Amino acid sequence: ETDDRVSRISSTIRVIPDFPKPGILFQDITTLLLDPKAFKDTIDLFVERYRDKNINVVAGIEARGFIFGPPIALAIGAKFVPMRKPKKLPGEVISEEYSLEYGTDTMEMHVGAVQPGERAVVVDDLIATGGTLNAAIRLLERVGVQVVECACVIELPELKGRDRLGNKPLFVLVSST
Ligand code: AMP
Repeated sequence: ETDDRVSRISSTIRVIPDFPKPGILFQDITTLLLDPKAFKDTIDLFVERYRDKNINVVAGIEARGFIFGPPIALAIGAKFVPMRKPKKLPGEVISEEYSLEYGTDTMEMHVGAVQPGERAVVVDDLIATGGTLNAAIRLLERVGVQVVECACVIELPELKGRDRLGNKPLFVLVSST
């Protein structure tokens, strides 16, 4: 039954070659969102995994972690914390730099959004190299939050992003080759 849900989810994800640049196979989750059953199954599978695990925080990564994170947070009774691109959050922030294929980027979180000892799940649509999730883990751990797991709809296993998460478990619904 989980497998039926996962295969439906998988079939709704559109793959667009050479976006945003040549050689990239872009995994487009907007087509998943167009299928209400696939979207609901996606949220349900995460909720089934994280309810009853004393999760206080769902940390969503800009931008597509903002689509999947909030419905999970609402369903499990956790707060939602946005992990944003630089200069978007209006309050005092802490930030972490991380490396991209060319250059670096920065992720920011509001000071005071989370408390030491809280238990978090980090949510994004996709893990490629793992650099983005690694930065989110570092941000949360710097302020004493326990990152219980990272959760993504899609993993690109060939890029070995899991290896950049240290000992953190990663839960994914779909592996794409
Ligand atoms: P990474 O830090 O390399 O794990 O990249 C993950 C981030 O980049 C996520 O926020 C994804 O939304 C985005 N991303 C990377 N590669 C792809 C891809 N092939 N298709 C869609 N999104 C991607």
